[in-house]
Amino acid sequence: MILDFPGGARPTERTRFGKQNTLTVDSCSAVCLRADDDAEAIARVGATVLRGGLLGRNGETPVYASIAGSFRGILEIEGNRYFVVMNGGETGEERIHSPETRAITQMTADDVIESAKKFAIVDSRSGVPLWKMLESAKKGCRRLVVDCTESDPLSAINYRLCIERTRSLVGGAKVLLHATGALKCVFAAEHYRHAAFAAISEYADDEKIFALAQLDEKYPYGDNALMYALYVQELKKGETALDRGVFIVAPETAIALYEAMLYGMPQLDRFITVCGDGVRKGGNMRVPRGITLHDLIGLCGGLEDKHFLIENSLLSGSPISGALSDGTRALVAAKPLKRLRVPCISCGRCAEVCPVRLLPSEILALDGRDILKHCISCGACEYICPSGIPLLGLIKKAASRKEEA
Ligand code: SF4
Ligand code: SF4
Repeated sequence: MILDFPGGARPTERTRFGKQNTLTVDSCSAVCLRADDDAEAIARVGATVLRGGLLGRNGETPVYASIAGSFRGILEIEGNRYFVVMNGGETGEERIHSPETRAITQMTADDVIESAKKFAIVDSRSGVPLWKMLESAKKGCRRLVVDCTESDPLSAINYRLCIERTRSLVGGAKVLLHATGALKCVFAAEHYRHAAFAAISEYADDEKIFALAQLDEKYPYGDNALMYALYVQELKKGETALDRGVFIVAPETAIALYEAMLYGMPQLDRFITVCGDGVRKGGNMRVPRGITLHDLIGLCGGLEDKHFLIENSLLSGSPISGALSDGTRALVAAKPLKRLRVPCISCGRCAEVCPVRLLPSEILALDGRDILKHCISCGACEYICPSGIPLLGLIKKAASRKEEA
């Protein structure tokens, strides 16, 4: 059975990278790793650091060098703060932690939280450190969902992870089941990902614990859409899936946790698809965490003129610059949508695709209060509008005006 949710945009094209193996990029000229307000450097500015070496901390979360190089300190670049490492030809790896030797049954939930913290695992679906998510799960969790759908129809990285690293994926899911106390784990992906379902079911063969969910080919699969498709539950504005006892992670997160515990190395790489018309050689890539977009796009043959980079999804993502963030699963190189900007023709398509059943065109009229209150910023209405009306942009502008008032 193919599971569905109300609304959502149906893509007009599919990814061309489904059959392409993930390419590993070992090195780059520099990495910029996000520094929070409470960031503190531990390595000496100017010191040579090895890959895996400790640079500092974001609060309680350690920050490790994802390439060998010279540590330049915490710097502000284009309004953001980063731990910066420049590669001057240095090589080498440092292993601060040991692999986990205990069986998972010998570990408590707190032991797993400690591992997620010391290995600096960040969920690529939410951009939140996994240890913080696991702390929140202590309030009660019944289901684990590994969201293997893509953030954008042009991306294929989650699919590739499912078939290239299945053992780690299922191993990580077992660790997360233990840590969250969830009794069941669902692997959810677009229904046509047959190879992913076949690979997962080979390793996750206990039907009492594991299930596969085939989802309709619609986007975006945020928490609301997943909760409806899987459990026919509608989240209220501000409510999270975890409030309903459902812990949702990206496949990369489960894999990173499992492999970090197995090898004793922190999460030093990220997996992404670079796609869209604006790059000549896009594809599925494993790259050093915090790689600069300049390096990354250079590896892809450069960005075509008049194109820009959108983070995660053409539907709801925002343009990004600087460095790859921990919450980026896809980079879409696209031209600004050719906006016709003709008046609303009252076709009703924006209302059809809205997953929370709003009437987005009302934002054009005087009374958009309901929209401001309930919109989940999925971007489906703007994506589908034949008049080229930037509905999500208008909703966001109106919401920020309201906040200021
Ligand atoms: S999709 Fe665009 S043109 Fe159609 S009703 Fe909505 S705002 Fe109007
Ligand atoms: S109004 Fe908000 S929730 Fe509805 S389709 Fe538009 S962006 Fe998505």
